[in-house]
Amino acid sequence: MTTHGPADFAGQHITVAGLGVSGISAARALAGLGAHLTVVDGGDGDKQRAAARELTAEGIRVRLGDGDTLPEGTELVVTSPGWKPDSPLFAAAAAAGVDVVGDVEIAWRLRGPGAAAWLGVTGTNGKTTTVRMLASILAAEGLRTLAVGNIGTPIIDVVLGQGKNGEPPYDVLAVELSSYQLHWAPSLRAHSGAVLNLAPDHLDWHGSMQAYAADKGRIYEGNTVACVYNAADKATEDLVREADVEEGCRAIGFTLGTPGPSQLGVVDGILVDRAFVENRQQQAQELAEVSDVTPPAPHNIANALAAAALARAFGVRPTAVRDGLRAFHPDAHRIQHVAELDGVTYIDDSKATNTHAAEASLAAYEHIVWIAGGLAKGATFDELVQKSAARLRGVVLIGADRALIAEALARHAPDVPVVDLDRTDTGAMPEAVREAARLARPGDTVLLAPACASMDMFVNYNKRGEAFAEAVGELTARDH
Ligand code: ADP
Repeated sequence: MTTHGPADFAGQHITVAGLGVSGISAARALAGLGAHLTVVDGGDGDKQRAAARELTAEGIRVRLGDGDTLPEGTELVVTSPGWKPDSPLFAAAAAAGVDVVGDVEIAWRLRGPGAAAWLGVTGTNGKTTTVRMLASILAAEGLRTLAVGNIGTPIIDVVLGQGKNGEPPYDVLAVELSSYQLHWAPSLRAHSGAVLNLAPDHLDWHGSMQAYAADKGRIYEGNTVACVYNAADKATEDLVREADVEEGCRAIGFTLGTPGPSQLGVVDGILVDRAFVENRQQQAQELAEVSDVTPPAPHNIANALAAAALARAFGVRPTAVRDGLRAFHPDAHRIQHVAELDGVTYIDDSKATNTHAAEASLAAYEHIVWIAGGLAKGATFDELVQKSAARLRGVVLIGADRALIAEALARHAPDVPVVDLDRTDTGAMPEAVREAARLARPGDTVLLAPACASMDMFVNYNKRGEAFAEAVGELTARDH
């Protein structure tokens, strides 16, 4: 294996594609290592110009208004996640024999000898949750660790910051990896990796489901101890089979049922390990109780099992798995309990921005008044409605593409009352919540799980969730 390190980049002529958050942070980090940077962006608006001025003052060249041609002398291209693989800049790089990589690849190459191991997590849904659970478990074991991914410090900065300011270096990192990042990280070799699930998403970027799956599967390449797959999602297991791993690396499944040998699963409300025990044909090791996981919804138990599998692959003790899961609290807007009013529970799963995620949260409650709708991003809703119909007390539809959901409901759940809200102003969410409260009976759950993106009505899913919580706060007795 070639060793890399920060010195690799000194003196290199590097082009960064995209003047966004990740591009700017990559450019600064690489310039700090002595590389010659050019940042290119097709845009030329006020925002870009302001960012360009700052970078130029730091000695970083910026070229606005042309994101297609490769700057003369480029030896490496570092891309931002939004850039599609078929962008002309990358074709130009390929023609010139220049590598195109992403932030994860740079971070990986920056690791010096003895650097922290990476435990990688990918999947269509559940990545952030699982990575945070994993970090919590690793910390409970007493390891120095960090959850790295879509939130918080950019991964390049984490790796560069290792051991600085006299702080001891990390022992292990829990790394969330998107399909984009995996696509552009050819030499990444995680200690162990997990693919949580695979459902169609981001197909406009990847071009096909096959290409999307193949990029997700890259997380298993070169794993040394465990490739963790979802036993209920055959596509994830297939990816393990196709991966080129180190000698002795094992395929470890997780299941919500009774685990077979080399699996983690659930028996009588207990999370058990039949993979990392001495005699896995006959023995199982208790790890934690289902009630130790917050929230104890089925998909989240699956996340906990995946996190536990990676931790156990790293040698973490069973008690630390339990303590870590107990200490974990999910991020906001992910099946977040908002309030209970007159026997009705209000749950904010605004982060359910696709049908796969919404299906998981709808499966977690028995009687639901469902608030759904927004931007469908090309999704269809028949399967989701079919699977969830029996649980629906009523539905309140909001947002641009609500007709798509209304049509699926008419086809597969014609008896479920539907309120169709034809407004997108700030009063829409309060009205949706009032309507939902009206439909709900004591014992029911009002669930915001839109199955759609939020940008037609809100800045992002956080704002949508906040609007929901605020509207619930404004409910008065007369709304019930
Ligand atoms: P990601 O980082 O992959 O977007 P999050 O942990 O932020 O994942 O969760 C995103 C959404 O997916 C939430 O709405 C959550 O309820 C749902 N979700 C979480 N885990 C799973 C899972 N294992 N299967 C299906 N949906 C899930």
